[in-house]
Amino acid sequence: MMVVACAAKTVPYPLPPKKPVTQKLAGQDLQKFSGNYRACMTALNKASIDFTPIPDRISPKGCELKDQITLDRSRYPYSAPVIGTCEIIAAVAAWEEQVVRKNALKFLGEDIKEITHYAMFSCRNIAGTSKRSEHSKGNAIDIAGFTMKNGDKIMVLDHWKDRGKKGQFLRAVFKDSCKIFKGAMGPNSNAAHRDHFHFDMGSWGFCD
Ligand SMILES: [Zn+2]
Repeated sequence: MMVVACAAKTVPYPLPPKKPVTQKLAGQDLQKFSGNYRACMTALNKASIDFTPIPDRISPKGCELKDQITLDRSRYPYSAPVIGTCEIIAAVAAWEEQVVRKNALKFLGEDIKEITHYAMFSCRNIAGTSKRSEHSKGNAIDIAGFTMKNGDKIMVLDHWKDRGKKGQFLRAVFKDSCKIFKGAMGPNSNAAHRDHFHFDMGSWGFCD
C-alpha cells in the first residue's frame, strides 16, 4: 500500500521514471518556494526530479539547516553531492534545463556531460562582513565549471575570458542564471569569485 504524504518524512521515494518536464520549475514557481518546503517538494515530484528529504539539524558550528534535500537525479551528474534547501535545489534543476542545456546546444553544439561544483554548505559569514553567507543555510551553490562529452573542461577560472566557444558559453550561462537565482556573483564581482559562479536563493536580489 502506498504511504500517504501527510506525516513527517513520507514523501514517496523512489519516484516514477523521469520525464523531461522540468520546464514546470520556471520563474514564478521558484519564487513561491521560499519558506514553503511542501510546495517545493510537490513541484519537484511533479517535475520527476529525484530527491531525498533530510531532517532539520544544527551544524557543529551552530548553523541551522532547515528544509534540506539531497538531489538524487536530475539532467546532469555532479562532481560532488548536491545537498541544500529545497528552494536552491529546485532552482538548480530549472537552471540545468533552461540555462545550461540551452546555452550548451547554442554555443557548444552539444549538451554537456557533468557539472563541477564546490561544497554547498559552509557555516561562515560573507567574506569581510558580519552577515551570514547563504552557504551557512545550504541555500547557495558554487559552480566551478563543466565537462564536455569529449572530456574537455570548461572552467570559470580558465575560460571566463576565452574568446572562443567555451568563454561564450560561460558568459551566456552566467547572464541567464540571473533569471533563475535570486543572487549571482561571478569573476566580474571580485577576486574571490574568479574561479566560480556563486548562485543563491537569498533575499538580496543581486546579479553581478
Ligand atoms: Zn558561494
